[in-house]
This record gives sequence, C-alpha cells and structure tokens, in this order.
Amino acid sequence: MNINFTGKKVLVRVDFNVPLNDQFQVSDDTRIRGALPTINHILDNGGAVILMSHLGRPLKKLNPDGTVNRKRYTLNHVTSHLSNLLGKPVQFAEEAVGSETQKKADALLSGEVLLLENTRFYKGEKKGDPEFAKQLAALADIYVNDAFGTAHRAHASTTTVAQFFEAGNRCFGFLIEKELENAKHLTDYPKRPLTAIIGGAKVSDKILLLETLIERVDNLLIGGGMAYTFIQAQGGSTGNSLVEEDKIELAKHLLERAKRNQVNLVLPEDSIIADAFKEDANHKVSPSNAIEAPWMGLDIGPKAREAFRTVILESRAILWNGPMGVFEFPAFANGTRDVAQAVADSTEDGTFSLIGGGDSVAAINQMGLANEVSYVSTGGGAMLELLEGKELPGIKAIGS
Ligand code: AMP
Repeated sequence: MNINFTGKKVLVRVDFNVPLNDQFQVSDDTRIRGALPTINHILDNGGAVILMSHLGRPLKKLNPDGTVNRKRYTLNHVTSHLSNLLGKPVQFAEEAVGSETQKKADALLSGEVLLLENTRFYKGEKKGDPEFAKQLAALADIYVNDAFGTAHRAHASTTTVAQFFEAGNRCFGFLIEKELENAKHLTDYPKRPLTAIIGGAKVSDKILLLETLIERVDNLLIGGGMAYTFIQAQGGSTGNSLVEEDKIELAKHLLERAKRNQVNLVLPEDSIIADAFKEDANHKVSPSNAIEAPWMGLDIGPKAREAFRTVILESRAILWNGPMGVFEFPAFANGTRDVAQAVADSTEDGTFSLIGGGDSVAAINQMGLANEVSYVSTGGGAMLELLEGKELPGIKAIGS
C-alpha cells in the first residue's frame, strides 16, 4: 500500500461474499471487517474508494426466465452494513460497468465510497474478459486487490483488470499483504521442526498439498476421514470408515515418499469408532487398523491425541488444515479440540501456527482459540494453493 492516494480514485477488489439471512441481511460480517483497514487507509489518505466484489454464484442460479436474480444476489444487501461500519454513507451503482456507473465514478469526491453491483452478474467476470476488465479499470486511477479468497481465480476483477494499470498504480491491500507474509513463515523461512496437521474428509481434495508437504515438512500428522485410506494402504482393516479405494495406491506412494524423505508421518494409532454416521451413535475406542463393519472411525482416539500433542509441542512452525474427526458431532469433536488446544499451547511457547482451510477455521472458532494461534487464514482455497507452491493469478497480476 505504498502508493499516494491523495486525489485519486481507487478501485478496490474486496471479498464481500458474505452469508445473508432470510431477510438478506448480513449474518456474518467477518469478511467486510477484514477489508476495513485497506478502505480506511485510502480514505484517510485523501482517496475516493470504488469497491467491487462478487456475492454468491448468480449465473448458476438464474431466474426461470433466464435473467439474473437481482433480488437475491444484489451487492446492495451489503451497503447499509458497510456504511455503519465505516461511519459514512456508501453510494451504490446498480451496474458494475457502463455509462451511468462511469458518471457516478467521475463525480466521486475524495473521502467518498461507491460500491459496484455484483461482478458475477456479468459473464465476462469469470472468463477474465479483457473488455469487461477494461470498463472496470476505466472507473479509477489505481487498482488495489484485497480479496485473498479469490486470488486463485483468474477473473476479470481479480486478475485481468490489473493489466490496465501501470505497475506503480496497482498494489495489494493490507489483507492480502498479511496473508502472503504469514504463508512465507511456512514456505520460505519456516522454523524447524515444521509440522503439518492435515485432516478433513478426503485424500482426493488434498493430493497436491500432501505431495508438496512431503517434500518440505519434518512431521506430517494425518487425521480425519482421510487417515483411513492410509491405514488401508498399510494393510489395516477399516470397516465402514471413509476410504477412497481409488486413492489407496496414491496413499502407498505417499507413505514411501515420506520414508525416503525422512518425514515423520504419523497416522492415528487408535480411533473413536461408531456403529453409524450419527450424532448419537454407539461409540468406543479401537485400534485404527482393526475396525470391523458396521463400525467406522469418526475421530482420532486417546493414544493418537497424545501422540499428536507431543509432536505439536515439539514443533516450531505448524500448518493445520482439516478437522481430526466429525467435529460437528460433540461425541467426535475431542480429537479436533485437543489438536486445537495443543496448537494454541505450542504457539504460547513461541511456535508459529497458521490455520488454513474452511473447516479447520470453523473448528478453531468453535473451540474459542482463534486468538491463541499465530494466524487464521481468510482464504481456504487460495491459501491451500499458495502452500501447494502454485502461483496465484491474482497475486501474479499485481507483481508483473
Ligand atoms: P474438509 O472440508 O476436507 O476439510 O473436510 C471437513 C469434513 O470432514 C468435516 O465436515 C468433517 O465432519 C469431516 N470428517 C472429518 N473426519 C471424518 C471421518 N473420520 N469420517 C467422515 N468424515 C469426517
């Protein structure tokens, strides 16, 4: 944010893709609050702010007559909430581009805020269409990207638009800066030992992440549903646990690679098993490799919790992605809770800890420990792609 904004019109891509209630009121404003430091910085420095964002997937849920469902997806649902948070009026442009919007942008004064209609009302957005991007760019002098959650998408408002601004007139907002800086603690200069705790439902969602991590980390703790594919790959019986048959070979390959790279890959020695996928199912402790149908592993067991905790406390940098069990059911939330607590305790001891990915973020919030870890990422998919070593289009567009 090293640009002089005085007297300039600044087009800011934010992530206002927030949940709404039945009355279309904002029900969780975390993402809006996340953008406030950038917006306020530009306003305090004498700039005028033009905000753009997507909200939902309007082109996937068209009205029966083929038109966009504006009633449901208009970004105007956010205007009054944003206005309250900023403590000043927010103007709204009913189209993201076009002559009326251009007039509104031209008339905007320093210190004023204009919010554009949902960028995903336009086909050009997801296609990264240069024509659409050019019209957006024409509204302003400077482009700021602060939407980390969509930085891995090559859309018009996140990527293509940047090319219409010179290098000195485009930059990241504070949120993206913070995300990139924190990711570097794991990718560029991690303290050692570096530990990744990976959980969640499926191996298939996280193949690239696991493959990357196996080249980088000292310890890899695997919990959640995905652990059972690995346990079967080792020849264990897993009953009705979630196993991806077509990923068993891959799991074998990953286990071998871990050995070759001297990565300490730890699977849960025991599990909490249940006789049905239900909140009130019968449950008991079992070795993870001796589960018989109809039983299934829905959480890591007490020995695994202890083993994971020991590794976590010995670590100096930690990535956590994915819950250790079906944490939405209280009976199967202990593994996730204990891991969250261990990460918090290790952090207190000076370890750098980053929580990335939707469900682990929900879990750390549910446990009330979000303030006791080093960083909770706001962008699930984008953070994972960054940690997978990919170059995100929205990041590259600002840099090049
Ligand atoms: P993900 O989005 O891949 O991080 O997966 C999160 C989901 O995985 C949560 O909804 C959990 O309930 C689910 N999950 C975690 N452990 C298990 C398990 N052992 N069996 C089935 N689902 C699980």
